[in-house]
Amino acid sequence: MKVIAADFVTTAVAPAGWPPADLPEIAFVGRSNVGKSSMLNKLSGRKGIARVSGTPGRTRALNFFELTLERAATKEKLRFCDLPGYGFAKVSKAERAQWARMIEGYLAEREPLKAVVVIIDGKVGPTDDDIEMLRWLEATGRRPIVVATKMDRLPKAHRAGRLRQIEAQLQFLPRTLIGFSAEEGFGRDDVWAKILDAAHSP
Ligand code: GDP
Repeated sequence: MKVIAADFVTTAVAPAGWPPADLPEIAFVGRSNVGKSSMLNKLSGRKGIARVSGTPGRTRALNFFELTLERAATKEKLRFCDLPGYGFAKVSKAERAQWARMIEGYLAEREPLKAVVVIIDGKVGPTDDDIEMLRWLEATGRRPIVVATKMDRLPKAHRAGRLRQIEAQLQFLPRTLIGFSAEEGFGRDDVWAKILDAAHSP
């Protein structure tokens, strides 16, 4: 599978700004600084598609990207939605509430949304915010694709064990965890396989 095009489409802070519901959509969520932009860049094969920001929590809107894939000489399109990072300590209560309204409105209502990639830090493990997000998705019936990133920060010999340990912490989820590293580049094909599986599901 090759990504032959990846373009930023639009930014939205309210449903009126969402693009037309004409492509399967995959959302990406995680706490600020978890490595979401780096993952989006790695998956799309474009270095600057999602800005890797030095200021956690800076992006406050939904960012939509359109991708064209080529597989066995057939082309297909899908859309990514990059959600603002959560759990940034320096935001006010009011900002937090506004964030929750925007994100939960999107996740609950977006019709073409096929799955939500929930990114956790492989070294840190799932935070309370991560668990809250996963339980919320479970309650709304959304399909989660859980990815542990920054796995390169662990010694190679500890990585598999660490993934099993995190899976045990997320026992309420039926699906397996994918280990990923934007730095070393592994896990990309596994994440793509889950994304395509979800995008092709009815
Ligand atoms: P975002 O705020 O979730 O979009 O996170 P970024 O993609 O901007 O990454 C936050 C920081 O983590 C940056 O300094 C990245 O270089 C670093 N980072 C992201 N992914 C990885 C990874 O897979 N491995 C390592 N070692 N560092 C990473």
